[in-house]
Amino acid sequence: MLIKSSINILVVENDITVLQKCRELLVNEGHRVRTAESVEEALAIVQKQPGEVDIMLLSLELPGWGGLTLINVLQKAKREILIMTMSANCGEEAIEAVHAGAYDCIRKTFTADRFWTKINRAIEAFRLRRQLGVLTRQRQAVLSEVGHDENLSAILQSFTDGLVVTDWQTNIVLLNENAASLFDLTREKALGHPISDCIKSDELLSFFMRAIKSDSSLAPLMAGEEPVVKVGERAVRVHVDPVKNETGTAIGAACLFHDVTSISAMAKLRDDFLSMVSHELKAPLSSLLMQISVVLDGLAGDLSAKQSDLLGKAKEKTKGMITLVNDLLDYRRIQEGKSIQKIENLDMAEILRRTAELMRLSAEEKEITMSCDIAEELPSFTGDRGGVEAIFVNLISNAIKYTPKGGNVNVTLNKAGKEIRFRVVDNGMGIPSEDIDRIFDKFYRIKTEETRSISGSGLGLSIVKGIVDAHNGSIRVESEAGKGTTFVVSLPSEA
Ligand code: ADP
Repeated sequence: MLIKSSINILVVENDITVLQKCRELLVNEGHRVRTAESVEEALAIVQKQPGEVDIMLLSLELPGWGGLTLINVLQKAKREILIMTMSANCGEEAIEAVHAGAYDCIRKTFTADRFWTKINRAIEAFRLRRQLGVLTRQRQAVLSEVGHDENLSAILQSFTDGLVVTDWQTNIVLLNENAASLFDLTREKALGHPISDCIKSDELLSFFMRAIKSDSSLAPLMAGEEPVVKVGERAVRVHVDPVKNETGTAIGAACLFHDVTSISAMAKLRDDFLSMVSHELKAPLSSLLMQISVVLDGLAGDLSAKQSDLLGKAKEKTKGMITLVNDLLDYRRIQEGKSIQKIENLDMAEILRRTAELMRLSAEEKEITMSCDIAEELPSFTGDRGGVEAIFVNLISNAIKYTPKGGNVNVTLNKAGKEIRFRVVDNGMGIPSEDIDRIFDKFYRIKTEETRSISGSGLGLSIVKGIVDAHNGSIRVESEAGKGTTFVVSLPSEA
């Protein structure tokens, strides 16, 4: 027999034959056995001597309160008892018991071999659970000790940044004075308390949780432009890392806070200024474009070929400037969390038809064949009209911009389950694989010989992404350099 040290087992069974058989087998192997013939009796034993029962062998065919009720009561009370059920056929009620937290089920018609296969497995599971509990408590103890090391405390107090360390349950085990003053805390108020009670920020809490779970998506975020989190009136740049023990297990998380409230205020001032200038430029640029177009169309007199050529170039540059100004205004709006201005029922087919018609002129100028297929039956969609227009305009205009003369652009809008799917396919220059992950970053533009002469701000796709996210949708891109690009936007019909 594998099992050496004895285990406390409570057998709860009103069928005396089964009860005796279990007791005999268990006692013969040196386990301490108690018995109960009803749920009430079993509960009394568990409540009187908590910790005195390791494993419970529980019949599912007890009269009165069934065995299932007992499982639910024990689960609620968080008793660390491993429950093994017994029943005549281990049918539906046994499955229900496992869902409620029981470990497994034994048929009452068991042979000694069958009994021991199941019981030994349960004993192993119980021991593993107990070891896990011990390890967990040890993990906590290691970090709590750090807080009492005076030398270490002195070093940590000298940091100009705020520092907070939590255990694996996100309880604060260490914080320096700068962190305390940054968040208006005292050591007494913070130590031993969950970070969510002390620093009110769901985003920050999620960083701690991800660090403790060693979520791999956190590391690149912390390695890049570290996130700025708003806590009340303060803006803090955070860097969170897991704290690991010598075996590499995360036993907590450590976070450095850098107060950037004043820098953020400066950045806001700069952004507001940029918005204001963009706004002021929009009207004169549009008027300039109109006047150039009037002259180019010959409405102000005949033009020589040279004059037409120069004015044509001026018109293109002006258009580029208007796009830049519009991008800057859209981007600012999204940054301020205003990507959705008004939610209303939208006729997506009509919006796309109109947008595609407006874009057809630019396609024709480049001899690009543009097709637009819109499904007849589309689910109703509620969203922001300006946002949806911006998604359509940006993706279609990119397809035209980055497809050489004579190419094809195909736009489709259809239903996919509960979503509306918008797809733009071009056979243009494509996106090199090394750039594909970065095209949604703000101001990111691909620099190749082909794209050099194409104007743009690098904001279009980040604007599209912001709007799609605000509508709870998703955007996907497939592309191969030299072959073409496909963008697919999926929007839930009830955003
Ligand atoms: P831009 O103003 O430069 O067009 P975007 O944010 O709209 O900015 O796009 C970012 C970059 O992604 C572009 O500079 C371009 O290199 C690439 N890109 C976007 N759409 C396409 C496309 N359909 N085909 C090829 N490259 C594209």
